[in-house]
Amino acid sequence: VSEQTENISANFIEAQINSDIAAGLDHIVTRFPPEPNGYLHIGHAKSIFLNFGLAKKYQGKCFLRFDDTNPVKEGEEFVNSIERDVRWLVGDQAFDKANFASDYFEYFYQAAVMLIKKGLAYVDDSTADQIRLMRGTLKSPGQESPFRTRSVEENLQLFIDMRAGKFANGEKVLRAKIDMASPNINMRDPVIYRIVHTSHQRTGDAWCIYPMYDLAHPLEDAIEGVTHSVCTLEFEDHRPLYDWVLDNVKEAPFIKFRSRQYEFARLELENTVTSKRKLKALVEAGLVDGWDDPRLPTLSGLRRRGYTPEALEDFCTRIGVAKTNSRVETEYLKHCLREDLNQHAPRTMAVLDPLKVTITNYPEGQIEMRQAPIYPQDENSPTVQIPFGRHLYIEREDFREQANNKFYRLKPGKEVRLKSAYIIKCEDYIKDEATGEIKELLCTYDPDSATGGATANRKIKGTLHWVEATQAVEGEVHLLGDLLDFSSQAEDIVDQFNPESLRVLDHVKFDPSMADAPLGQTYQFQRKGYFCVDSKYSKPDRPVFVETVSLKDSFKG
Ligand code: ATP
Ligand code: MG
Repeated sequence: VSEQTENISANFIEAQINSDIAAGLDHIVTRFPPEPNGYLHIGHAKSIFLNFGLAKKYQGKCFLRFDDTNPVKEGEEFVNSIERDVRWLVGDQAFDKANFASDYFEYFYQAAVMLIKKGLAYVDDSTADQIRLMRGTLKSPGQESPFRTRSVEENLQLFIDMRAGKFANGEKVLRAKIDMASPNINMRDPVIYRIVHTSHQRTGDAWCIYPMYDLAHPLEDAIEGVTHSVCTLEFEDHRPLYDWVLDNVKEAPFIKFRSRQYEFARLELENTVTSKRKLKALVEAGLVDGWDDPRLPTLSGLRRRGYTPEALEDFCTRIGVAKTNSRVETEYLKHCLREDLNQHAPRTMAVLDPLKVTITNYPEGQIEMRQAPIYPQDENSPTVQIPFGRHLYIEREDFREQANNKFYRLKPGKEVRLKSAYIIKCEDYIKDEATGEIKELLCTYDPDSATGGATANRKIKGTLHWVEATQAVEGEVHLLGDLLDFSSQAEDIVDQFNPESLRVLDHVKFDPSMADAPLGQTYQFQRKGYFCVDSKYSKPDRPVFVETVSLKDSFKG
């Protein structure tokens, strides 16, 4: 551990680590331990940055460890997606390979045998319901099971028989023998092993007994030598059990370190679900386009939407590590994203709702290339060439037949500047009298008004984005709204789904350079917002962009 660590701690966990170092600890190991039963979400990002961040700051190690101890709900797809998401977030800090709790099944078994031999665990034939009823309440102590007094020899034989597959699911469990009168209900002889006759995705049918979280987790930490096991607040009441397990197996040869658990507040975002179970319900109901639907707060959805690891890390750092649960405004997350994209997203122009414009004094068939800065905030920005000609598109909402003086966009007889090109004047327009729809604008341009020209500096209030019509590529933009209607009284998440959360615009006109836009790249469409090339559907001859975030920032700080 270097001298760098003498600096001030950013949160109570760092304060803890600093005091452990002062007391002689010479290395730091953390872990991120997801159960592979779904895709990771924004809440997990908090835990990933916290654990990998601590390892980085203290020049220690952080493991990605799959807590794959429940074969019924887990699967390969989830393992792969989780690994991909973690690598996406931690980048060059990535680990060689992930760890799996299932690699330690033999150790868990040995630990259980050790507890049995010490008279600290027993096989119980009670049903799950009976065990629940006998657990007692916060006000009343629990009742001891009639099987609690079994001899060590009998417990050992029964546990061996459980492993050998002699019993059906639920017929027997192994319980820790602690204290049925403990004020902490988790200490009232918790179940630590159960029978599950289901193939495991990694160990197949080698096992039909599986350890419960409260036994497995402290052992996993201690086997890997985790020094600081950071988890969320709901596990605070489990900490005495965590300590009980490790205190009672400390002489086992596979124990590398006496790990300690520390709890912090979960990240919850306003108007956002951060529960794998609920997200899974939306996916399984077919209401979204898979786990990576850009409307979902999953990491794969956020990635597809154009969120960057940098923005997510910035957000997770800025909200800090707290000891009390609270909800963070979604606008704060968007604010961090905008700050990042404003720096790094190349600018381009796209017309979402096109209206034809003909420049009547510009020669038919002629095209000239205009230079536009890719990062206008940067004086030395590289530029991109964009075609200009007689036929253009502007945004339909940027023209009004009649408008007051506060409308600085285009109206009959008025001028606007076209970004990176000329000043144009609306001379006339063509309207479908039957429908009232405006078909086309007829404009003239001022040939001297481009950058460097004689009239370039004329004072013109409005500036519009535009796209040259004959070379434009046509494609889609997917506008995204809130996935769920939180004002709805519906209990079930599936009934809170907002069917208007996706709006597809399918005649969008893009600058021709967008035909070569890399999948997953986010651009700023000038005046419209940030949009990301959809890695799932975009094709060179038909680009598809998803809305990343609007330009307008309403975060108050
Ligand atoms: P979910 O309730 O969505 O299934 P989980 O806590 O069951 O989440 P795990 O796979 O067990 O998911 O979580 C892996 C790690 O991520 C755990 O250490 C957990 O504490 C942490 N974590 C999960 N959700 C959040 C959250 N909202 N904020 C911070 N950390 C979280
Ligand atoms: Mg869980």
